[in-house]
Amino acid sequence: MGRHLGNVEKRLRHYLPGGDFKNVSPIRSRTMRAIKGRGTKTTEQRLRGALVQARIRDWKLQPRGIFGSPDVVFLSKNLVIFVDGCFWHGCPRCGHLPQANRAYWKAKIAYNRQRDRITERELRKNGFVVLRFWEHELADDLGRCIKRIRTTLSPTKRSRHSSRKRAKADAN
Ligand SMILES: [Zn+2]
Repeated sequence: MGRHLGNVEKRLRHYLPGGDFKNVSPIRSRTMRAIKGRGTKTTEQRLRGALVQARIRDWKLQPRGIFGSPDVVFLSKNLVIFVDGCFWHGCPRCGHLPQANRAYWKAKIAYNRQRDRITERELRKNGFVVLRFWEHELADDLGRCIKRIRTTLSPTKRSRHSSRKRAKADAN
């Protein structure tokens, strides 16, 4: 798995000359790198609260040691959930680029998206079911997100079949 992330780092150089953030002061660059780019604390807590309220059990919030650091993991069901911050992951509905350092942000967000795709593919290859929510989906319609989680946890025969087909197609 680590090899793939190494490839991402290499590809990042394609976006960011020298593989580093240019035209950004060292302190600011360090701060930016420190930001994980996942959902905000508020959205995570919202999801957590909704899971508790819905009496959905057997999940862990950001457990250590799972590839890609998902936000919620249902280990017994091999289900991982990511909450993507709309800005950091380039949400088509809410994502926008700041005027200052446009090229930097464009590269940074493209990198995040690419890393998301690779992480997701790796997890699927290893038998995980991956669900992703945009930050705005949690804010707008938490009930719908919970419904999607429930459906995934106890799929009907039909959807189980189609997700297996999808996993096979991904592997090819
Ligand atoms: Zn959004």
